Amino acid sequence: MNNGSTYPNKEVTADEFLKSDETFRQLIKNSFDMLVLLDSDGVQRYVSESCKKILGYDPRELTDISVIESMIHPDDQAKTKQGFLDIVKHSKHGGTQYRHRHKNGDWVYLEAYGNNQLHNPDIQAVVLNVRDITERKKAEKALKDSETRLSELIATKDRFFSIIGHDLKNPFSGILGFSELLIDQLKNKHYDDSLELAQMIQHSSKRVMDLLNNLLAWAQSQTGKTKFNPEYFEIDEVADEVIDLLRDSSHQKSISLTNGIPPGTLVYADKPMITLVLRNLVSNGVKFTQPGGKIDIESEKNKGEISISVIDNGVGISKDNIEDLFNVDKRHSSKGTYNETGTGLGLLLCKDFIKTHGGRIWAESELDKGSKFTFMIPQKTGC
Ligand code: ADP
Repeated sequence: MNNGSTYPNKEVTADEFLKSDETFRQLIKNSFDMLVLLDSDGVQRYVSESCKKILGYDPRELTDISVIESMIHPDDQAKTKQGFLDIVKHSKHGGTQYRHRHKNGDWVYLEAYGNNQLHNPDIQAVVLNVRDITERKKAEKALKDSETRLSELIATKDRFFSIIGHDLKNPFSGILGFSELLIDQLKNKHYDDSLELAQMIQHSSKRVMDLLNNLLAWAQSQTGKTKFNPEYFEIDEVADEVIDLLRDSSHQKSISLTNGIPPGTLVYADKPMITLVLRNLVSNGVKFTQPGGKIDIESEKNKGEISISVIDNGVGISKDNIEDLFNVDKRHSSKGTYNETGTGLGLLLCKDFIKTHGGRIWAESELDKGSKFTFMIPQKTGC
């Protein structure tokens, strides 16, 4: 070695090679792993130079510090401390994973394997072999995320087919039945009930259309295909359009619809999404309110947010059911006051779309008194 040659140069034996302090220093310095020596109190007495590559710190900055308290992520401190105590007290060999602060403020995932050498007179320390496993952790997380996403997509697909199977069948049976009757009547030149039958067909077709719109919007939102395009628009105008759209069904039940949002109320939001949310809430109001009832749409602007409420004096919702209204696993649906059927999809869709806006949706209700559904969306300052 003194003549400058290095192992495996044939002139130097392996034994001679390993005797050199400088050789060891170079080996440790160039290792991808970090070598750390801790005293029995967890104070770092030596940190090899690899810490520069892994953690951005100079070894001197990490020496003579209580590493667990000062450098390890608060959520990982307890288990790391326990692992260290096991090594110190019970002379256990042990590995643990934790997040260590990088000099740039990020967290680096490390895996440390410890060996108690406190009683070894040449070392007198707990020796840690520390490896950067950030990339491995990232890959593990990506795999887990994609697994979760995949099982959500499979559940969505299953739900999608069950909705198509059950919920689309009823209105279609209605359309087929009414149209057969209408054809019979027209063949026999009985025109008396034709208008009524045609209206029933139209009514059922509208329900199928509504359902399909919800179904498609929901499938798109579940598969991440819904585009979020916020813009400025007047939400009182959207409420007017929704009321217009639902005028037929509300007239049939003599339910009054009022838009209490002040004219010119500007919001910054995705217009198609908010239109769908309002349509679902108002159409639920109509569905679950007795003939002669009323539905109001109201708004409240606070600093940095706007809340829109749809208030009805309908059948209300029991305490048990209100908790599950927005729960995707407990898709709840009941018949309306005219026996209208539903899918329990509307509110889930509302929740998804309001969440996309970074907002919240909730319901307050009392059985037989009525319900108030409110959604709040954050607003750009100045809106
Ligand atoms: P759907 O109306 O198609 O069943 P929703 O998700 O819109 O699906 O609503 C789910 C359920 O929540 C309804 O079936 C009903 O039981 C209840 N609900 C929603 N809105 C109201 C309301 N305004 N009044 C009473 N119950 C309601």
